Amino acid sequence: MDFNFTEEQRMWRDTVNAFMEKEVGREYTRAHDASREFPWEVYRKMGQLGWLGLLLPEEDGGAEADPVMFAIFCEAIAKYSLDTAACIMTSMFTATNISAHGTAAQKAQYLPLFLKGERTFSISISEPQSGSDAANAKTKAVLDGDEWVLNGNKTWCSGAHIPGTLIVLMARTGEERYKGLSLFLLPNDAPGLTITKLNTIVRRSLGTTQLYLDNVRLPKENLLGEVGQGWAYIGEHLEHERLSLAASYVGNAQTALDDTLRYTKDRKAFGRSLSDFQVLKHRMAEDATQIEAARLLTYSAATKMAQGVRAVKEVSMAKVFAVDALFKTAFNGMQALGGYSQLPEQDMERYFREAKHGMVGGGANEIQKSIIAKELGL
Ligand SMILES: Cc1cc2nc3c(=O)[nH]c(=O)nc-3n(C[C@H](O)[C@H](O)[C@H](O)COP(=O)(O)OP(=O)(O)OC[C@H]3O[C@@H](n4cnc5c(N)ncnc54)[C@H](O)[C@@H]3O)c2cc1C
Repeated sequence: MDFNFTEEQRMWRDTVNAFMEKEVGREYTRAHDASREFPWEVYRKMGQLGWLGLLLPEEDGGAEADPVMFAIFCEAIAKYSLDTAACIMTSMFTATNISAHGTAAQKAQYLPLFLKGERTFSISISEPQSGSDAANAKTKAVLDGDEWVLNGNKTWCSGAHIPGTLIVLMARTGEERYKGLSLFLLPNDAPGLTITKLNTIVRRSLGTTQLYLDNVRLPKENLLGEVGQGWAYIGEHLEHERLSLAASYVGNAQTALDDTLRYTKDRKAFGRSLSDFQVLKHRMAEDATQIEAARLLTYSAATKMAQGVRAVKEVSMAKVFAVDALFKTAFNGMQALGGYSQLPEQDMERYFREAKHGMVGGGANEIQKSIIAKELGL
C-alpha cells in the first residue's frame, strides 16, 4: 500500500495551493464573507486555467480529472473557507448533469461560458418540507402544449440569484416517489420566478435563496434528459460530491489547526506561551491525529473510486469523519484563541460556523451514518 502522492499529484497540490495563496488569500476571503459578494475574480481565473472543467469529459471541453486529483483540488480550494469551495464546486457538479444528459444544443448553449468562468450553475432540489427526504418534493411541472408550466416553492438554492445563473431544478412530473421526478433548465430571470436571499450564517459569498415559481413557463426543450429520470441523474455524482466535501473539510481543518498552533506559540500568559500548557498541547495533538485520519480515509476512498471500485460506504465514512474533525478542531481553536476568537480578523469563527453547516449540508451526518449502516447490511 502506497500512502504517498505521485510526482504529478504533488505538483498539482502545490499548483493549486500556490494559486490559493496568490489569487485568493485570507483578506480576500474575509472581505467576501463580510460583503456577501461572489468571488468572480477567482471563479474567472479558475475558468481561464481550465479548472472548472475538471469533472467534465474531454469531448465537452473538460479535463476528466480522476477522483484523487479532484480531491487534491478540493482540499486546497477550501483551505480558507468552505464557502469559496462551494462557489466553485456547486457549478462544477451541476455542469456534470448538463454534460451527461444535455442535448448537443443545451451543452452548446450553457457549457462554454461556464468553462470560461463567465456563467454559474445552481442546483435546486430542497423544498421547505423536503431536505434530507428530498424525494418528497412537491414543486410541479405540467406539460402544456410546447411548454412546461412550473409551480411551487424551492428553498436553500445556493447561488440562484447571481446574474446569468442557470438553475437545474428538480420538479415533480408524476406521482411515483422517485420516477415522478425530472430535472429542468431554468434561467434565473424566467418570468414568474421570484428569488429571495436568505440571511444565512454560512455560504455568505455564494449566497443561498428561496425560489417561488408562479406559472413559470419553460420551452419543452428545457427538460434535462428524460422525464422521470431526475432522481437517478442527481444520484449519479453523489459519491464524487461527498468525496469532494470530505477533502474540503480536511483542507479547512488543516488551516484551523495551523492557525491555532501559530497563535498559541505567539501568545503569552503567566510568563509562558499558551502552547506550553499541556491541556492545549494535547488538544492540538488530538486534532492533528483526527485530521490525519480524515485525510487517509478521504484519499483511500478517492483511490478506490479512481480504480473504478464502488466506494459508497467509504465516502460517507470520510465525509462524516472529516466534518467532525473540522468541527472539533475549529471548536478547540475558538477556545485556544480566547476572546480574540470572536473577531472575524482571526478567521476561526468562520471555520467554526462553516463546519457546523458541513454537518448538515450535502447529506447530514445522520444520513451518512444511515448509508454506512445500510452498506453494513443493517
Ligand atoms: C447554507 C445552505 C445551503 C444549501 N444549498 C443547497 C442547494 O444549493 N441546493 C439544494 O437543493 N439544497 C441546498 N441546501 C439544503 C440542504 O441540502 C438541506 O438543508 C439538508 O439536506 C438537510 O435538510 P433540512 O435542512 O430540511 O433538514 P431535515 O431533513 O429536516 O433534518 C433535520 C435533522 O433531522 C435529521 N434527520 C432527518 N432525517 C433523518 C433520518 N432518516 N434519520 C436520522 N436523522 C434524520 C437530520 O440529519 C438533521 O439533523 C442548503 C442548505 C443550507 C443550510
